[in-house]
Amino acid sequence: MSGLEPAQLVAAQRVAGWLRPAWVEVDLSAITANVVHIRAAVAPSAVCAIVKADGYGHGAVPVARAALDGGAAYLGVALAEEGHELRQAGIEVPVLVLSEPPAEAMGLVVEDNLTATIYTDDGLAALLEAAALARPSRETGGRGTGGRGTGGRGTGGRGTGTWGRPVPVHLKVDTGMHRVGASPAAIVGLARRVASHPALALEGLFTHLAVADEPDDPFTGAQLDRFEGVVRALAAEDIYPSMLHAANSAGALCHPRSRYQMVRPGMAVYGQAPAAALQAAPLIAPLQPALSLKARVSYAKEVGAGESLSYGLQYRLSQRSVVATVPVGYADGVPRRLFMVGGEVLVGGRRRTVAGAVTMDQILVDCGPGSEVTRGDEVVLLGRQGDAEISPWEWAERLGTIAYEVTCGLSPRLPRLYTSR
Ligand SMILES: *Cc1c(COP(=O)(O)O)cnc(C)c1O
Repeated sequence: MSGLEPAQLVAAQRVAGWLRPAWVEVDLSAITANVVHIRAAVAPSAVCAIVKADGYGHGAVPVARAALDGGAAYLGVALAEEGHELRQAGIEVPVLVLSEPPAEAMGLVVEDNLTATIYTDDGLAALLEAAALARPSRETGGRGTGGRGTGGRGTGGRGTGTWGRPVPVHLKVDTGMHRVGASPAAIVGLARRVASHPALALEGLFTHLAVADEPDDPFTGAQLDRFEGVVRALAAEDIYPSMLHAANSAGALCHPRSRYQMVRPGMAVYGQAPAAALQAAPLIAPLQPALSLKARVSYAKEVGAGESLSYGLQYRLSQRSVVATVPVGYADGVPRRLFMVGGEVLVGGRRRTVAGAVTMDQILVDCGPGSEVTRGDEVVLLGRQGDAEISPWEWAERLGTIAYEVTCGLSPRLPRLYTSR
């Protein structure tokens, strides 16, 4: 629940200049509480809150701040430019770029003091080149106005004072998912070069789990065996990265062995289970969903028995009924298929059927005969209304996808309204 009264919401919308009544509501208190919960569960491991993809659709900067309030020590992003956005907002904690940035992005990594993930010789060479280029201007206090410009950000980034200090590096080892990462055999050579180069600091070694969300699958244990084998191989070379990490949300909350020095939860931070089957798991059930998708009825009318609705006329009314129009559609991330798979919304505290094809900007809802639903009534597409709730996993299960795709798919056209309790 947002804790905002409808009148306050309307006022907030007016202040924000939103004319269309459809929005994503993000409860930042839930984000903070989730991180507090995760920290307690994994202590003494540190928490790296993953805020890639604009914070899984929630808005990276507000989520990052809320996660830091909950005690996250690190933030994780997919792209250097996502890290840059956090730095522009004045966020100074370590930010790990989870995959090796392309050569073109290494300058931004160095300039913004992001923590680089490395797993190829080419990537290492590009990072070294960027570090060498940055060094002279570091000593003179900046790169001027060229290039990527931290302009407008005040003293925040410079104040973190990495000028002249080594670039922090985490090496990623592929232990069986085969997405990114160096092979266990290649890691030792990379680690030697990183550890011995004065411009770099080998801070971490990590891997990523392919089936952590299926807790009974022995493959997770096999991946961790391989990971620890690499740790031993590095130790034989007297190389000891101080931060070992492997766990995504499912690893952190379902596989204690995978916690090491740090965990990297994403979905759990947002209060969603990493798999539908894990929603009732002991450390996952207490998570608080942060996101709601809401709108207001823009038009309501009675439609006669036998009439059909929306493109394709695929929903036929068997009786006279009140049909509400809601100004949110597939351009906002409401999947067009939601109608075909029995999607519902909450209006008047009740579940009601999405009636007819989802269109680009609007949906129709069958509110039933004699319904008193009227223009301006709140409609909840995701989230709670009264005792009823529709979760991203409900959509995901109808649509044959995962909740991640649902929240990441909510388009930037929907304003984000941040609330806290
Ligand atoms: C996205 C990602 C995570 C977070 O995964 P969740 O399942 O959302 O917890 C962690 N680590 C890496 C490398 C990732 O790409």
